[in-house]
Amino acid sequence: MRPLRDARDAVLAAMPRMASESVEVWNAMHRVTSESVIAGEPVPPFDNSAMDGFAVRAADITEIPAILDVIEDVPAGSVPTKPVAAGQATRIMTGAPMPDGADTVVKVEDTSPDGDTSVRIEASTPAGMSVRRAGEDLAPDDVVVPAGVRLTSRHLASIATARGSIAVSRAPVVAVMSTGDEVVPPSTEHLTPGTIRDANRVLLTTSLHELGVGVLDMGIVGDDPDALRSSYEEAAASAAVIVSTGGVSMGDYDFVKHVLGERGSVEFWRVAMQPAKPFAFGSIDGVPLFGLPGNPVSTFVAYEQFLRPALLTMMGATRILRPRVRGTIGEDVDTSPEKEVFLRVMLAEDQGRLVALRSGGQGSNVLSALATADAFAVIPVGVGSVSAGDDVELEMFRSPESRSATDD
Ligand code: AMP
Ligand code: MG
Repeated sequence: MRPLRDARDAVLAAMPRMASESVEVWNAMHRVTSESVIAGEPVPPFDNSAMDGFAVRAADITEIPAILDVIEDVPAGSVPTKPVAAGQATRIMTGAPMPDGADTVVKVEDTSPDGDTSVRIEASTPAGMSVRRAGEDLAPDDVVVPAGVRLTSRHLASIATARGSIAVSRAPVVAVMSTGDEVVPPSTEHLTPGTIRDANRVLLTTSLHELGVGVLDMGIVGDDPDALRSSYEEAAASAAVIVSTGGVSMGDYDFVKHVLGERGSVEFWRVAMQPAKPFAFGSIDGVPLFGLPGNPVSTFVAYEQFLRPALLTMMGATRILRPRVRGTIGEDVDTSPEKEVFLRVMLAEDQGRLVALRSGGQGSNVLSALATADAFAVIPVGVGSVSAGDDVELEMFRSPESRSATDD
């Protein structure tokens, strides 16, 4: 068996790099920067108030209370027309530009009106208070986002404010097909004997959408050499990567090799991992081909460990693996010492520690336990069992919206 890390390194080394393109912020979500995004303008663009209040000279309010003449009102979106001289104040709203002469803002809660044209300042406020300086968030030529980052809405908002131009890697299109004579579309009204609904194409196409790559849905292909050959060839003509599920067990070797013929080659690997030990990797007409195992939980594990990092590599991402954190296993589990085992676990918090319990049956066909899992507990090669209370490594894939079991 091949260690997972070696297998993954071999896959990553074979991945081509996508070309670069410029995109608007609106179209850049989940894409990976191919160059640093540089601030084109200072953020904020001008000195402005961080509070609703009065822009004054700090030197005028060392003695409290101080009475100052209010010379104008500056709401956000307008511009002060008068400098603030000694003994004067400008009423200012959050985000409005600072008037010349003023060096601090007294928040409205620390003031009271004094007649129609004056304000009484009731708290002394040091110079610079509640003033946001031009360029303090980003100055022109600052790096807003370095190259190799998969963009989130948070990055995009920051880029938008600094008017950065965005170069990203093109998103690869991934052709996805399920194989197997027994597999029928999920919408099938009545299952005929021996058939099962297609889980893998649902799992993969939606995971790929979430990753921000394109999907070419090739449907279900039966265990028929001609059908499989024409699907692979069609996929190779229009996609950057081909993914099929099923038909990668030892017994299928000759079949798939024969199907690929002269136009492709494939290697069948036994990877020291559980689930997802069988894995096929090769190419057709130069397009990388991933043959993932048919059992849906294996498909997911293989997606997470091979395909997802491979696609992120094609897009030039610096970080290609999910975050891992330390936690505690909450129960005794026997595992295979020859394999890196990916237990599907639910997480709860106990006295500041993440505690992992299996989310259900660990068979590679048990999707219900995958659906409710928050993470993999990754049990390394060489370890044959873990006991309640042992340290484990947790690879997080929980959607950010879900909360831990101890939250209300
Ligand atoms: P295979 O690798 O083709 O031998 O398939 C292994 C197991 O996964 C078999 O029980 C298949 O019926 C099942 N399987 C294959 N493809 C799918 C699919 N798309 N959705 C759900 N189960 C599948
Ligand atoms: Mg099959």
